[in-house]
Order: sequence, then C-alpha cells, then structure tokens
Amino acid sequence: MNKIAQIFETLEYGPAPEAAQPALDWLASHGNKFGHYIDGKWTAPGKTFASTNPANGKALADVTEGTREDVDKAVKAARAAFKTWSALSGYERGKYLYAIARAVQKHSRLFAVLETLDNGKPIRESRDVDIPLVARHFYHPAGWAQQLSRAFPGMVPYGVCGQIIPWNFPLLMLAWKIAPALAAGNTVILKPAEFTSLTALLFAEICDRAGLPKGVVNIITGEGPTGQAMVAHPGIDKIAFTGSTEVGKAIRAATAGSGKGLSLELGGKSPYLVFEDADLDSAIEGLVDAIWFNQGQVCCAGSRLLVQESIEEKFLAKLKKRMATLRVGDPLDKAVDIGALVAPVQVERVRDLVKKGVAEGGTLYEPDIDLPKGGCFLRPALISDISPANTVATEEIFGPVLVEMSFRTPEEGIALANNTRYGLAATLWSENINLALDIAPKIKAGVVWINGTNQFDAAVGFGGYKESGFGREGGKEGMAVYLKPAWEKALKSAAARTSSFDKLRMRSSTSASGSPHGEPVEPRGRGNPLDTAAIDQTAKMYIGGKQVRPDSGYSRPVFGAGGALIGEVGDGNRKDIRNAVEAARAALGWGTTAAHNRAQILFFLAENLDYRRKEFADRLRAETGATAAAANKEVDAAIERLFAFAGWADKYDGTVHNPPTRAIAAAMVEPIGVIGIVAPQELPLLGSIALLAPAVAMGNPVVLVPSAAHPLSITDLYQVIETSDVPAGVINIVTGDAEVLAKTLAEHDGIDAMWFCGSAEASALVEKASIGNLKQTWTSRGLSFDLADADKFNGAYFLAKSTQVKNIWIPYGA
Ligand code: ADP
Repeated sequence: MNKIAQIFETLEYGPAPEAAQPALDWLASHGNKFGHYIDGKWTAPGKTFASTNPANGKALADVTEGTREDVDKAVKAARAAFKTWSALSGYERGKYLYAIARAVQKHSRLFAVLETLDNGKPIRESRDVDIPLVARHFYHPAGWAQQLSRAFPGMVPYGVCGQIIPWNFPLLMLAWKIAPALAAGNTVILKPAEFTSLTALLFAEICDRAGLPKGVVNIITGEGPTGQAMVAHPGIDKIAFTGSTEVGKAIRAATAGSGKGLSLELGGKSPYLVFEDADLDSAIEGLVDAIWFNQGQVCCAGSRLLVQESIEEKFLAKLKKRMATLRVGDPLDKAVDIGALVAPVQVERVRDLVKKGVAEGGTLYEPDIDLPKGGCFLRPALISDISPANTVATEEIFGPVLVEMSFRTPEEGIALANNTRYGLAATLWSENINLALDIAPKIKAGVVWINGTNQFDAAVGFGGYKESGFGREGGKEGMAVYLKPAWEKALKSAAARTSSFDKLRMRSSTSASGSPHGEPVEPRGRGNPLDTAAIDQTAKMYIGGKQVRPDSGYSRPVFGAGGALIGEVGDGNRKDIRNAVEAARAALGWGTTAAHNRAQILFFLAENLDYRRKEFADRLRAETGATAAAANKEVDAAIERLFAFAGWADKYDGTVHNPPTRAIAAAMVEPIGVIGIVAPQELPLLGSIALLAPAVAMGNPVVLVPSAAHPLSITDLYQVIETSDVPAGVINIVTGDAEVLAKTLAEHDGIDAMWFCGSAEASALVEKASIGNLKQTWTSRGLSFDLADADKFNGAYFLAKSTQVKNIWIPYGA
C-alpha cells in the first residue's frame, strides 16, 4: 500500500513537529544562564538552578535563585520608578502597554515555542490560546490606563506590587498580573514559578526593547523562599498571587496586619454538569477541553464530572471512546492533544492521588494508548464509582485525571456541584435555557460556562469564591484590585482621634473580665456582680429574629458618660456566635430575595428609626455624653445611611460583556454570604449602621457585634428591626467583648467575610484567624476611618466589599 492509501486506511496523523531552534538560539544568546531583570538591567547570575524541558528531561537554561538582597534591590528600583511612572498620563502608560502587546504579537511564535519547551504544554495550545490571550490582556488594560480617572474617580495605584505566579500558564499569568498593575500606575516585581521562568525572562527583554522606563517591571526568578521574601518585604504595597490554596493561606497569614493589599487566585475542583437534555457530543468535546487542556494543570479545570443518572451509561461509553483517540506526545508536535506534565514531581503527585482514589473505592479507566518514552507523560484517566468524600473528589489533582459522579435531580446536581471548599469555575450542559439559567446563579463559583468551557477574555473578570481566593483578574474588576481610594492611602493612625475609646479599652483589658467599661466605675462594676441588680432590664442578644438570653448566663454592665450604670447587656460567647451564624446561614435566601424587596425593607427600617429618633438621640447622649446637637446628627446620619443603601439595593448590579466570541458574559453581582461585622467603639449607632446597611442591602445576612462600650443604641434597635419586616436571621446581634467575639467570628467557617473595626494589633489577629476558609476581610487597622463621612461611605466603598462578581458565559447562535 502506498503511504497515502495507508493514511486513509488508518486515519493516523504523521508527526508535525515545530522547530525548537529559534527558542534554543535565544537561550544561547544569553549563554543559557540568566540573572534577574532589575532596574532595566540584567544582574549577574547568582546561585542557579536548572530549568528543564519536561518532555525529555534536558536542561534548557540555568536561572538564578533570588535572595532577600535581590528582592530588596528590586523593591528599591520599583519604588524609584513608581514616582515617574504613576505621574505619567494614562495615555502615556497605555502606549507602553500597547507597544508591549504589539511586540508579543510580533514574537508570538518564539514565545509559544519557548513556553512549550519550558512547560510541556502542546504547541497547539501555547500558539493558539496562551500567546494570543497574552496580547489581548495587554491591549485591554492599555485602554483602561487612559480612562482611569473617568472610570475610577478618586482612585490611585497602590505603589509597588509583588506578583507571584504559577507554572501552568507562565506567560499568560504574567500578563494577567503585570498589565493591569502597570495600567493603574503601579510598578511591579514579578516572580515566575521555578519550573517555568523562561518566557518571563524573554518578556523582560521585550520590555527593554519597548523602552519601558527602568524599574517599572522587575523580574526575579526563584523558588518558594524568594516568594516568601517578597511577601515579607515592607517596601511592597500589594501582593497578587496565583497558585495553590495552601501557599495562598500562608501568604494571607504572612501579610496579616501589614496593610498590604492582597488578591489571591487559588485552586479549584470545578464541577462539569451534564444534564440529560444536553447535546452529548458537544459536551464530550467540551469535556476534553475542560480536563485535558494543558494536561489538566488548570486551576479552573472541569475536573469533577457530574452526569445525570439517566444518561450516565451512554455518556461514559462515549467518553471512553473519545479518550482512546486522544494523542499524547511530543508537545512540539502540532497534532498532539496532551503534552508533558511540568515536572517529575507532579507526575508522582498525580499518580499518588490516583492510587488513593482507587484504594478508596474508585474505578480507574485509562485508554490503551502509547506514551512517548521518557518525559513527564501520563495517559488521560477517568475515575468513576466514587463517593463525594473520596480524596480524588475533594482534592485538586492538577493532572489529566477526571473524576465522575452521577446525580438524579437538578437540586442534587447543584448540591454536589457546591459540595467543595473551592469555588473557581463551573460548567453546565443543557439544551434547556430555563434550566441552565436557573442553575447558573445557584452555583457558588466565580465563573460559570453554559454549553462551553474554559472560555477566557481580558474584558471578563476571572476569579474565585470561597477557598479559590478573592479579587478578580480581567475586566474592570481586574483593574480595581490594583487601585485604592486616595483618601484611604492617606489615612493616619486613629490614636489621637479616638484616644478616649482607647483608654476605655486599655482599662478593660487590664480588668479581670476584659469588660470595656469606664474608668471611674471599674472597681465597683466588677467587684460584685450583684451590684448591678438595680437595673431591672438586661438587653438580650438578637438571633434568628428573636431576643435570646446569652448562653453564658452572664451580663455586662454598661456605663454612661458620667460613669453611672445605665444598663446591662448579655456577655456573648462562642456559643452565641455559633447560634447567630447558624441563624444567618439559614437566612442566606436573603441574597436571592428581589433587590426591590430588600430595598423596601431597608426603607422601612429607616422610616421606623425616624419615628423614634428622639429616643435614640437621648440614648446616645446618655451613653457618650454627646450634646443634643451631636446626638441628633448621629441619628439623622444613621437614618440617611439606611436610606442610601436601601436606594443602592437595586442599583449596584451587574453588566453584560461582549467577548470576541459568540457568547455574552453576564457579570452578576452576588452577595458574598454571611458577613461578620465588629463595629467601631465610637459612633454607637452610626458605626454599626454604616457597616450593616451595605452588607444587608446587597443580600448578605450579618452577625453584628456592636460597640462594646456603648451597645445600647443597637440593642434598642431590636424593636425597630422587628417592626420593619426584616426576615429572621438576616440581622443577628451578639453583644460582648469585641476582640474576643471578633476572633471567634474570624475563625468560624460559617462566616464568609469579616469586617473589623479596632486596633492595628487586633486587626492583624482577625486577619490571621480568617485563613481557615479564606474569608475576605476588611479591617480598620487602627486608622482614622471616619464612618460618618457620607461622601466616602454612602456608596461603592462597602458595596464592593459586600459583593463578588460571577461571570456567566452564555453562548448564542444556532
Ligand atoms: P502550584 O501548586 O501551582 O505549584 P504553588 O502555590 O506551590 O503552586 O506555587 C505558586 C508560586 O508561589 C510559585 O511561583 C512558587 O515559587 C511560589 N511560592 C511557593 N511557596 C511560596 C511561599 N511560601 N511564599 C510565597 N511564594 C511561594
């Protein structure tokens, strides 16, 4: 048989290799040895480690292990460059980004080949997906740079940003990080992952040739300790990290209390739901992209297949047939589907997890296909017959391994989909638009693809819910994480302004009980608990729509401005918090209540508070000794704040993006979940309302700890809440020691976000305690936040912190 006839007979591809030589020549032009790129210059190589080609184990180049001194040098360069770079007009900065995008396009094949050599991903992917997206991710923020003052009024760059990226999309992650940071006016120090430094180094050369001012982009190579040195460096204003949840948590802990900005894009275990009415052939092709794209080393990989039971058998049969046709081989071969994993250690890790999954009852299927000799290759794998608790169903495998479970009803599918600590992405397949659009909002993930998968665009935000991290990359949200309000950057320590409260608190922490009562009465206040018996009414907690006694059975005295006992409140403890969190979680449906209804309830609350304004003003006077004018002002401001956020409830909403594909991406603004709020000591009424109103307006149930020194303004509010149709569990109030309760809230996995007003030290503790489920935190860090300032706080500031954006990709066209 001649060759053509033979090909027709077997339908096998011949090899179609891409030449490696241009990339090897570039490496050779640097002597196959690199230092760092700092302040527009290459440093001499230091202690180096090898970067190897995982497809054949051959060393490509030696790169330098970044030291603390290297980091320090880069921070100095970036700091010096920040002054002029941030002062450039957005138009000027945009032109640089535009020039970089053009240069990436011009050298796209070199980048693609180098990426494939270094990472092992198929050239088809680096050439057709990674590098084109890199260019797009520079073009898009180039436009934002110019529109910054119009799109983000009053916002300024952080300063020097430390950016740490993983090895799965080396250049693309670099683009996601560097482009928006520069557009916003920051300067950066970027550390690529140790396995894949080379395209970042080629990128440094591109910056050089594009004439980017020195020090604006600095590239430091190295391993974990280099990243740690960046995270710890006091000269870095913001850390942006993409990588494992484990390291993300370590970074959260290391930055606690530092005031550094932080955005984290972490792991995932994303569900891939196939309903019985899906177009099965398309769903199979989608699945190939979802889990075998980049060998499954994708944080948003659709690694958990959930198939409706009625089609399970048929779908799995089709899937196995398709798996058998996947080609694993030389990543530089243009006809290869699956390339090499990044390193031997990853291959071992994946193999271990597969073994575990099978040992725990899973059934493994691997097609009988040839693997190349040597190199980090694995067959595509499917593990079925697993329970939701199987290690492979819960742990991110980060390899070409799909796990499968079935579900009967859509409700069960949603429950399984959400049964994960992660929340990065989800895919669902159904030909029924009603079903698809019903399911998508119910899945707790930052991105949901309907009848498609792994779609990305620079105009559409990407990022996670829950332990998949916080902050977004891409789109307007992606710009926002590199900007902060100018006023916030200028805040000073609040020590001078709130000294009277600090004094109260300091006293309290030396008293046996930790109770923050006033100086003159301390001796008798805690001397004999029975001394407070003269007060006949003790304010209770407010949990699940009811006034309840504190679990501890203890109460705390509350003293007025003159030191006299003016009331008692319950002394809240861990169990009260537990009950409050339970009640709040039971009220999560508040988030899907129509925004109009939420608005009406908040208006009603404001109105009912207005009826009782005199009573509340009198209470404030008794608590703090405020003048009548000051007390009235605070009550009026609290009412106005409630009105403001009632108004916002149906206005702070999403948008629709038009990515360059036949799809729209609906950017939905969703509540975060249950928010724990510890209000400031000062402004007993307004301080709590200022935080509660935006959180509740956007659909988050809250657990509020009011001012420990002056809690009565908020315990008085119970009746107002009760008469305002606020559903049970939406507002829960626990009185007691602010810092003790804050720690309990921060450690509680039922709390999704945590806002804390208090000292710098206590803020650090709260941030550190929040890493368990990676809560989004806002802390005042002892700074002079003035929550009475309506210009700053009647709008987007806390609305943004109350919400997260989910992008739902919806295809169109028949
Ligand atoms: P992955 O699981 O994707 O390999 P890692 O989270 O281990 O991700 O690594 C992602 C990036 O974080 C890499 O650049 C790595 O060098 C860096 N890194 C690892 N450990 C730390 C650490 N403790 N602090 C800062 N960066 C770190």
